[in-house]
Amino acid sequence: MAPILPKISATAVSAEMRLAYVLHHFQQAYAGAATISIGYAGQQPQVEVADGAGDFFERQLPYPSAPNWREWQGRQLPFFFDLASDKPLLELRPDGRAIIHADLISAAFYLLSGWQEYFCEERDRHGRFPFSASVQHRYGFVAVPIVNYYFDILRAAVEHVTSQGLKPLRWAADAPFAAFITHDVDNLFSAWKAPAKAALLRYDWRNFGQRLWQHLTQRDAWDNLAEVQQMVASYGAKSTFFFLPEHRRSANGTPNADYKLRKIWPQAAVDKSEVGLHASLGTAVHAGRLKEDWLKIPVPCSGIRFHYLSWEPRITTTLLHIYNFTHDSTLGFAEHFGFRNSYCLPFQPFLFPNGTAASFLEIPLNVMDATLHHPNYLQLTPDEILPALTPMFQEIERFGGVCTVLWHNENFDPANTHNGPQQFRELMEYLCGRGATFVTGTEVVEILQPSPSD
Ligand SMILES: [Zn+2]
Repeated sequence: MAPILPKISATAVSAEMRLAYVLHHFQQAYAGAATISIGYAGQQPQVEVADGAGDFFERQLPYPSAPNWREWQGRQLPFFFDLASDKPLLELRPDGRAIIHADLISAAFYLLSGWQEYFCEERDRHGRFPFSASVQHRYGFVAVPIVNYYFDILRAAVEHVTSQGLKPLRWAADAPFAAFITHDVDNLFSAWKAPAKAALLRYDWRNFGQRLWQHLTQRDAWDNLAEVQQMVASYGAKSTFFFLPEHRRSANGTPNADYKLRKIWPQAAVDKSEVGLHASLGTAVHAGRLKEDWLKIPVPCSGIRFHYLSWEPRITTTLLHIYNFTHDSTLGFAEHFGFRNSYCLPFQPFLFPNGTAASFLEIPLNVMDATLHHPNYLQLTPDEILPALTPMFQEIERFGGVCTVLWHNENFDPANTHNGPQQFRELMEYLCGRGATFVTGTEVVEILQPSPSD
């Protein structure tokens, strides 16, 4: 049954609001960009952007017209709200001004704010905005951070005006990009269940008996947080564990945790890791239950990711903003790796009821283990995983972004040879080989220091 969607409660989003939201992020991405005026023709700015949105944002439609494709530095990129395809993308004028003939501000706002999800009515059976309903899917650019490319065009325009290079955001030790290694802890005691059930279905009583005996007498293969923490540490990285404080199933029977958090609190692994809240099913739309979950985490934590990547754009952003979470890392598509908001740096989601940036940082989720090999998602063979992800990693490196990886602790079980520990190691070796610096959510927040744009 389709979930009933909350009502739209968006303020009228003016051109000024869109400009403020986009420039706030452009200035976060490039230090020194704030000194140059960027805007539409009426403001007579130093960098002028064509106004191509018409009444699209007043009408609150989920999708704009199909984008024009234009080339920028050897890449074909989609430009929404581009009404002047006969004119060059970027005109660097001899008088020191610059004109961008596509409405990059509106297009960047549309993608970064998650406009499509907010105004679209489609949700999947878990209440999520489906990848199949996205412009990323329709026009085939989910693995390209289009907003970073738009900002690169703005950068070139600003550099023409100032005759000086703009400095992009810098990571520790001048690393070319960062990686955020995370584990949602859904299950700790269920490794034995699937093989035991399979034995039962084959009437293989002997094997079933062995599995049951092992379960009763030995540690479960998924009860492995210390091993996960150690493997991640061997690459010079710190794990972030998102713990799920609810063990009862959701109203529609979908499982939450298979453990009771207060009984298993793994202090030794936690001491060397970062802890976040893995908020249970239903909490993305329920302030009271979200708070209950949060209070059950026995140590202070201010970062969050929702179980099943649950996210209702019409409510969840406001909840996290009101509760002063410092960061979230839910926003990726379960069905496909890539960039749900077409951006590879952390950003402040748009608060539609207020017309401003939310106070928390979204550290976008780029790749989840389950996405790579799952009956409902992709079915990559182990050999296909790294080649499939490499172009996305290269985009993140190109723009000095953060690569967020979600690898569940249960997929560190050596019995998993599809998207298991070996495939995780290959990703980590790639990231290390490219010189990524590893960061926790808290460190990302410290580096970007968000401040509300109002
Ligand atoms: Zn989960």
